[in-house]
Amino acid sequence: MKIKILLTLTFATAVFSLSAQNKRNVTPAATLPRPKLMVGLVVDQMRWDYLYRYYDRYQVGGFKRMLNEGFTCENTLIPYIPTVTAIGHSSIYTGSVPAIHGIAGNDFIIQATGKSMYCTDDSTVNAVGSDSKAGKMSPRNLLVSTVTDELRLATNFRSKVIGIALKDRGGILPAGHAANAAYWFDDANGAWISSTYYMTELPVWVKTFNATKPAEKYLKQDWNTLYPVNTYVQSAPDNSPRYEGKFSGADAPTFPIKTSELYKGKAGMIRSTPYGNSMTLDLAKAAIENEKLGAGTVTDFLAVSLSSTDYVGHQFGPNSVEAEDTYLRLDKDLAAFFTYLDGKLGKGNYTVFLSADHGAAHNPNFLIDHNIPAGVWKSSDVLTRLNKLLEDKYKVKGMVLNLDNYQVNFNNAAIRKENLNTDVLKFDCIQFLQQEPQIAYAVDMQRVQAATIPDELRTRIQNGYNAERSGAIQIVLKPGWFSGGQTGTTHGTWNPYDAHIPLVFMGWGIKHGSLTRETHMTDIAPTVAQLLHIQAPNGNIGTAIGEVLK
Ligand SMILES: [Zn+2]
Repeated sequence: MKIKILLTLTFATAVFSLSAQNKRNVTPAATLPRPKLMVGLVVDQMRWDYLYRYYDRYQVGGFKRMLNEGFTCENTLIPYIPTVTAIGHSSIYTGSVPAIHGIAGNDFIIQATGKSMYCTDDSTVNAVGSDSKAGKMSPRNLLVSTVTDELRLATNFRSKVIGIALKDRGGILPAGHAANAAYWFDDANGAWISSTYYMTELPVWVKTFNATKPAEKYLKQDWNTLYPVNTYVQSAPDNSPRYEGKFSGADAPTFPIKTSELYKGKAGMIRSTPYGNSMTLDLAKAAIENEKLGAGTVTDFLAVSLSSTDYVGHQFGPNSVEAEDTYLRLDKDLAAFFTYLDGKLGKGNYTVFLSADHGAAHNPNFLIDHNIPAGVWKSSDVLTRLNKLLEDKYKVKGMVLNLDNYQVNFNNAAIRKENLNTDVLKFDCIQFLQQEPQIAYAVDMQRVQAATIPDELRTRIQNGYNAERSGAIQIVLKPGWFSGGQTGTTHGTWNPYDAHIPLVFMGWGIKHGSLTRETHMTDIAPTVAQLLHIQAPNGNIGTAIGEVLK
């Protein structure tokens, strides 16, 4: 009896306190709260500091809106090398690294055969919307699930997932294996295409979009600066031929850029102009309209990569008026895109994250002119001399296939045939490479733990090393040095300019604030998974950034 009274009392208290709580703020939702739409934005080659380098000239509604309404993780680093596009997009969406997800470069060597593989090559599929080789692409080389795959799995494939980017790898890898579609741009016919991996025919809305000849429409407008050229005070003089590459057919790397005359029917020129990003966001809006993304009962996911920033950066370098103008225009486009999403889905009903696949170095000539150590490493010369040395000793020609991804890719078939001792061979290579003045370290991938290098490098080398797809020795150049051309820039190293990326979240479920503790590119997917209450991708090694989430 006593127990019964006690139980009744306890129950009454529990009910009372629960209802008191309900009155405060906890109304249990009938359905699981989630955003209507998740939008992933990867800005190709956007260094973290670009959020601030051009901050004063950004509009209210673009990058500034993300920073002022959303949550920024200010110290987000890439935890592997090489820092290139395919790996960046894969790692953002899988929370994983090349050692596990298998995308070991934009191109990588299948070590068993010595054959080169492009990250999204798939000989078993064909283009849809074109008959060119540009459509023989799929995510099959990616060995793990993406957060977009996990959303599809979590909702029994009721969520729609679409990937969009000028670059095939920027659209395909983020959208994952189970995507409804990925679209990318084919220079051959100046149209957005897909592959038979996803579909047999382009949807009518994509055909309609292509029929407007979107690239030509933009290129015919020419590329002038948004503001008077002399107001671009964050950049070197417009005519800096020592630092900038120029368009083919142009006299100088200067504005106005007469794209209407220079493109000569080659729609692919749009890639190296800010219009490539504008056109990508146009297609993203068309996808939201026509696929009714965010209009259903479950969360949809639109993965967009903005590739033109990378093409412009490679050609003109980070200190060019062209790069500055490209970011000012992207900012304007993003502001318009967010306003569109507000109108379509309602402000606060969608979540956006913005990050980058890698950053970029300064142009070496620009640094040299300012007395900062830098230079272009001539990898082909080194390869020739290395092969000569090995040939003299082992009497075998071409023992190193290439030094791509700053790795020694051996001709393993020849080594097996000659029954050579790979340990001795690697030792010879490392001895040679370490005498090169531009090389800081040459590390045997199988003995990374024993190498006398900072732990930060050790982790990045191990994470980047996929035994089946990476070279046997990692080369780490001195800061400021890269393998590439004299003008423009490139990326691929561990250094902050390549590896420190922006990471900003905004919208449904996101707090306002900022974080300075170290976070990683691999934390993005698990954070999104946490937000959506879905499983992290199956190769995930990242950690959800709890500070971001409400
Ligand atoms: Zn990239």
